[in-house]
This record gives sequence, structure tokens and C-alpha cells, in this order.
Amino acid sequence: MGYQKPVPLKNQDNSPYWDAADRHELSLQRCDSCHEYAHPPGPSCAKCGSTELSWINLGSDVKARIYSYVISYRPFLPGFQEDLPLIIAQAELEEVPEVKITCNVLQCKPEDIEIGMPVQMIWEGILEDRALPQWIAVK
Ligand SMILES: [Zn+2]
Repeated sequence: MGYQKPVPLKNQDNSPYWDAADRHELSLQRCDSCHEYAHPPGPSCAKCGSTELSWINLGSDVKARIYSYVISYRPFLPGFQEDLPLIIAQAELEEVPEVKITCNVLQCKPEDIEIGMPVQMIWEGILEDRALPQWIAVK
């Protein structure tokens, strides 16, 4: 059986983000005009509207803390049945706290997740040339 879940599509706005993920790195969009980070990536800055955006590579050692979370007991997309219950969280980046990344926390029981818990980004190989950012608790 191959990978059963939807594979995120690359487009003009987000392809540097997914290309970085495929290399097991995190890259974030930042506005050249007001210097605010923008995530998820888009065609222009959500704060000031500038279309002058750069990509900042944060590398492979990405740490964050759980800012908020929900626990899903129902699959909302095909392929997630085996993962239930699934923890869907917002991770506040240690390096860039104004950026919160919506994510899954893997290898964690629902009763063990808590606000403020330190997590780190890992990459799950889903296709030969594609990898998906995921998070696990810092051991
Ligand atoms: Zn801006």
C-alpha cells in the first residue's frame, strides 16, 4: 500500500516551504518591508500588503512549544482513520514566537499533551521525493 493521505500540493506561493520540507528543513516567508514573518505563506504580507517577500531558512533543528491543541476522534480527511485519536496543535516556534504552525503531534497520547509542552519538528517521508513536517515531544 502506498501513502493514503492527501499529499500537499506545491504552488507558486508555498513551493519554497515544501521544497525545504523535502530537504528536512523549515523555511519561512518574511516580509522585506515590515520584517514580519508570514505563515502559512501567501502572495503578499498579511500585515502590510507588500509583495516583497523573502524566504528565511531555519534549518533542521526546529523547536517549539504547544500553544493550543484539539484532539480529533473523527477522520476529517481520507487516510487518517489509523491515526485516531489525532492531536492537532498550534506550535509556537522557539526562534520566532510570533509564528504558530498548525500541526500534528505524533507519538503522543491525548492525556500526555499539554499547553507549553516542548516539541521538535521531524520529517515524515511520504513519497520518494516528498516529506511532511511533523512534531514530536522533546525527549
Ligand atoms: Zn509586511
